[in-house]
Amino acid sequence: MRANVRASMVALAAVIVVASITPMTAQQGDLDPRIVKLVASVSEERLSVILKKLESFETRSTLSSTTSPTRGIGAARQWIFDEMKNYSPKLQVSFDTYQVVPQGRITRDVELRNVMAVLPGRSPRRIYISGHYDTVARDGGQGASNAGAAPAASRAPAVDPNAPLDNLAPGVNDDGSGTALAIELARIFSQSGIEFDATLVFMAHVGEEQGLMGAWLHAKKAVDQKIPIEAVLNNDIVGNDRGGNGIVDGATIRVYSEGPEDSPSRALARFVQRWGGRYVPSHKVRPMSRPDRFGRGGDHSAYNQLGFTAVGFRESRENFTRQHDVRDTYEGISLPYLAQNARVNAAAAATLALAPPPPAVTNDRGQPSITRAPSGYDANLTWQAAPGASAYRIFWREAWGPDWQHEMTVGNVTHVVLPNMQIDDYVFGVAALDAAGHESFVSAYVSPPRGDSAVKTKGQ
Ligand SMILES: [Zn+2]
Repeated sequence: MRANVRASMVALAAVIVVASITPMTAQQGDLDPRIVKLVASVSEERLSVILKKLESFETRSTLSSTTSPTRGIGAARQWIFDEMKNYSPKLQVSFDTYQVVPQGRITRDVELRNVMAVLPGRSPRRIYISGHYDTVARDGGQGASNAGAAPAASRAPAVDPNAPLDNLAPGVNDDGSGTALAIELARIFSQSGIEFDATLVFMAHVGEEQGLMGAWLHAKKAVDQKIPIEAVLNNDIVGNDRGGNGIVDGATIRVYSEGPEDSPSRALARFVQRWGGRYVPSHKVRPMSRPDRFGRGGDHSAYNQLGFTAVGFRESRENFTRQHDVRDTYEGISLPYLAQNARVNAAAAATLALAPPPPAVTNDRGQPSITRAPSGYDANLTWQAAPGASAYRIFWREAWGPDWQHEMTVGNVTHVVLPNMQIDDYVFGVAALDAAGHESFVSAYVSPPRGDSAVKTKGQ
């Protein structure tokens, strides 16, 4: 016992010494000049070109024409493919294709094609930046839906379910904005010359408006093929800064994430706030402790459903009369606002992709590797070494409240003891750092939910 105490005190002393001689301070080491340059290379002009081109297809409905070279989803997906292919020989651009049968809002057999561009990193773990390129417009749009209108009664039932759904649906904000953001980041990342540890994937999903279909099918494929998706930054409706109620906010972006409070998706949202905020201090990241807005959905939730870590970016003030509506045109876009949202995405994705993966903080039985040893009153944290890590950062906060309150950088160790810190009173987490200080998102020590323990009564 006494030996254990001494050993742990020596260990802690060693940790503190390492922390004090490593020049990885929050002030000096955090901003990587390469990421600063990358973030600065987001171009409003390029975003504008992409948005106008997407609008020119008039509709990108999943059920629209695939044969016209200038109109409908076939022309749109081919243009997105060719555009990203053009950026760099390093980008591996492909269609991610599925054959889908009639179901729900899908009225006929249809081929779904996500467009994906992969920028290979040193490791196969993947960071996604995504949007959906398909569009929809219906009578009254989202404005009528929000105001409690009945489903469009004036719309005649389709005479021929096989006919292309070619009505005008420009979808410049929903979700031309997220698509343009992902395409622009494909350009700047692939041309940056930075060698990332993680593999980056720039994805334009399809079938979102029919129930997150393209995203779900891709996530299912990733489960089946054991593709290691570490994080998904999904952007859907991120280009308008004028609320339909007249309130303007061009300096805030909302980030939605599913719970519980220390889920990996929440940790990713905190990460976006922390690193997006450091590289783009003029833009406020506002994390939302809920999966999405009321009654609304997005592709990040399809990834969540299949067990992946994913968050959804949403503009601060929506104009519902311009969603799912013929009025969702280029005029509704603020380029400076969309560019700021792209910079926040770029900062978060680049930091994550340069950092080691987050360390595992559970033992082989899935229990958090945190104890009160050696004194019985200490916080004793153990984690598994993350590949490529050369240091770790411990975080903690009161067990009431969402944001980390304290942090301490420790050396290349996988164990630390904080004497007299009652583990029941704080949430603890740990992130991995590479030699240059790039930080992973935080793995938190949380107990899995308890099973139901039924009490037997007489006669049972
Ligand atoms: Zn959307």
